[in-house]
Amino acid sequence: MPFQSIEGQERVKRILQNSLRTDKVSHAYIFTGPDGTGRRAMARAFAQALYCKVLPDDACGECLDCRKIEHGNHPDLYWLEPDGASIKIEQIRELQKQFAYRAGASGLKMYILEQADKMTPQAANSLLKFLEEPAARVVAILITENGHALLPTIRSRSQWIPFLPLNRSRMTEKLLEEGFPPALVQTAVRLSAGTGGARELMQGNGFAEIRSQVIQLSKESLTRLPAALLALQQQLAKGELSDRLTLFLDMLILWLKDMVQLRLGNREGLVFSDQAEWMAQHALRYTLEHWMSGLEQAVEAQKRLRFHANAQLVLEQLFMRLKGG
Ligand SMILES: [Zn+2]
Repeated sequence: MPFQSIEGQERVKRILQNSLRTDKVSHAYIFTGPDGTGRRAMARAFAQALYCKVLPDDACGECLDCRKIEHGNHPDLYWLEPDGASIKIEQIRELQKQFAYRAGASGLKMYILEQADKMTPQAANSLLKFLEEPAARVVAILITENGHALLPTIRSRSQWIPFLPLNRSRMTEKLLEEGFPPALVQTAVRLSAGTGGARELMQGNGFAEIRSQVIQLSKESLTRLPAALLALQQQLAKGELSDRLTLFLDMLILWLKDMVQLRLGNREGLVFSDQAEWMAQHALRYTLEHWMSGLEQAVEAQKRLRFHANAQLVLEQLFMRLKGG
């Protein structure tokens, strides 16, 4: 697909298209930035533009090369991702073996490493040797959320391409146009750095349900704490929450941020604007300090769960503190 079909990242498009126009394509690029900012789509578009038979600096989307890349079966393009938890040295060796064969008509071979920061030290050293002896026409793209986690020697041999989070109001506009429900869009754009990520979240497993659970449990914890704790216990026991605890806490943190805003009298830009009336009333029943400290405790709970603390205990404590008094 053409560069223009990717949302935002105008600077990245300019750099890549300029390198195509001036015939100064690097041997290696590091696409670094948060999930959902279009790094994969950009890598694909760049690969297409490099192989495209029709356009010199973009993907036509129609020629055989463009289509093969779109369908993931181009013989000279390799996508590599972690095998389990890491990218292993065997995978890099296999890649090198493949690169020993001649490329097709264009003479160009290309590989894209996803989650490149997950390379084992051995794999990274092996890749480094590969980067140090670039064959005439090899292009590598290392995709990562954290380019600084790569070896300095790999960084110094690659062109650094940062991907920035997208503008939130543009993301919102786009997703509403696509027909996603406003309440979900408002939540998803806060939890993702790009339209792609937000879309994935909303289409993912139980996003709307988790949002309802956050609303139900946080409301109940303020009015009927014992009932809230019981509901929490049941939902955890049934496994409805257990595998989505991170998302649950992420949303609860947004809910508390809304409470802070409402306590300050701000109604602009609320995530849970569909609940604004109820929330505004209850926000005023506590001090600003109460909500601020609730927010801190929710962030703390998120950390504890990351280290596998007992979910029920952590959440019960949190809801009891929110009720306070
Ligand atoms: Zn093409």
